[in-house]
Amino acid sequence: MNKLANYLEGRWQEGAGAGSPVLDPVTGETLATVGADGIDMAAAYAFARNQGGTALRALSYAQRAELLGAIVKVLQANRDKYFDISLKNSGTVQNDSAVDVDGGIYTLSYYAKLGGKLTAGQLMADGTADALARDNAFATQHILVPVRGLALFINAFNFPSWGLWEKAAAALLSGVPVVIKPASATAWLTHEMVKDVIDAGILPGGALNIVCGRPANMLEALDSLDVVSFTGSADTAASLRNHPKIKLEGVRFNAETDSVNSALLGPDADDDAMGLLVREVVRELTIKSGQKCTAIRRILVPQARYATVAAALADKLKGITVGDPRLEGIRMGSLVSASQRDAIVAGIQKLEACSDIVFDGRQDIKIQAEGNQHAIVPPVVFGTQNPDTHPLVHEMEVFGPVATLMPYRDTDHALALARRGMGSLVASVYSNDPDFLAQAAISLAESHGRVHLINNDVAKVHTGHGNVMPQSNHGGPGRAGGGEELGGLRALRFYHRLSAVQGAPGVLEKIVN
Ligand code: NAP
Repeated sequence: MNKLANYLEGRWQEGAGAGSPVLDPVTGETLATVGADGIDMAAAYAFARNQGGTALRALSYAQRAELLGAIVKVLQANRDKYFDISLKNSGTVQNDSAVDVDGGIYTLSYYAKLGGKLTAGQLMADGTADALARDNAFATQHILVPVRGLALFINAFNFPSWGLWEKAAAALLSGVPVVIKPASATAWLTHEMVKDVIDAGILPGGALNIVCGRPANMLEALDSLDVVSFTGSADTAASLRNHPKIKLEGVRFNAETDSVNSALLGPDADDDAMGLLVREVVRELTIKSGQKCTAIRRILVPQARYATVAAALADKLKGITVGDPRLEGIRMGSLVSASQRDAIVAGIQKLEACSDIVFDGRQDIKIQAEGNQHAIVPPVVFGTQNPDTHPLVHEMEVFGPVATLMPYRDTDHALALARRGMGSLVASVYSNDPDFLAQAAISLAESHGRVHLINNDVAKVHTGHGNVMPQSNHGGPGRAGGGEELGGLRALRFYHRLSAVQGAPGVLEKIVN
């Protein structure tokens, strides 16, 4: 049995006891176990801060960017192995595994390039100096310096590769040591990647650490100058926010949580725009079996287009092959675990009780897999004629291949329905009317971390509703967690402290230069 050890204090440490199993969601086979019983998190954190943090901060941004580049090479060399682990542990087909594996590598290489262009120094200037006295005799200059604590990442099960590297890229580039706690269900891939990078001897000791399972004192052992970046459900985020370390002692906390994202077909709705929306909805429902925080959950269309869109979605979805990702020709694989399957089945039943059916893969798609113990669930699209009074559709995220189609009366109604998500990661808008696209973007920006505008001009080149690109902000207000990640150099701010330095202009110049 592959017992996944924890890499802390510069050495591999197994948790005591049997640990909990990491399973193949299609065959049910136990692939590994994870556990952190008996692990001393206080000692692990002290090592990360003192050894890892000190060594990383002694390097310039450009030198740390070179380290990211070296990590990219190690991960690229082991890509095939990561695809194999994804297939077994996440139940994903090759294309879906690529979103995670290659998405992680791409994000790291983007930050390696971006960091290479940063100053050779050890801090970042935030704007220029402002005078505080007559004749500029005394001035203020804001600077950003790397956090001296550590960055703890508590990650979700759906992106074991990308979820690690999209955060670690910005933290390591900033000079902040990382402790990753992957979700237990899919910890194997994160573990293997960390192990390969450690074995390659790229990073200073203590810079990259991993703890699997549920270690005791994971939050208690933090100190006030550490930072935590959490990705997962809103419920877990709420309980972590209430932890005294975060609530009372000021540990900086970023949360990326659930989101009922929408896709909106403009009121002009020519056939091209409708085709673009339908293609994207089908893609979002089926990639990673809909287990993407950014996936489309609500489809808003003009009343007059409701029946046509419903028919087009049903027509495309009935041709999707769903089953064991090992089989030739399968387009959509499994959910990551039996417990996720049970949660999604329960969510489908709740929506079904108060919605119409637009497409029901449970009836219209034959799952290609052995037995019925697997965690494979085919796509289901619900519909409603009463989007204003529907009891669940704007609140409940069913984290699988599930979405709901709804009609709107006019532009104001459409935008108001999108806002009913109470803060979302992304909304995409499909129209060939540039004025409408601009109006929608300005209106939706306030409640959405990203607005994705699609017309014929970008039909072949756009990056996709659900794809998170490192150049763009990822995160959303309100129920999406209120967090911010990526967005180019903006990502580095979370791993820096802002300080206003006041003094003689000559001294301030010395600091910045
Ligand atoms: P989850 O149950 O909240 O778990 C997330 C992480 O928190 C896991 O590592 C989990 O560990 C850990 N955890 C759970 N309870 C904890 C506690 N009391 N103390 C410390 N750690 C705890 O979420 P999930 O089911 O893995 O992920 C699915 C959700 O994540 C979806 O709602 C999805 O929308 C959201 N998500 C959001 C984003 C985004 O960027 N906004 C991205 C991906 C997913 P164990 O695995 O060991 O339980």
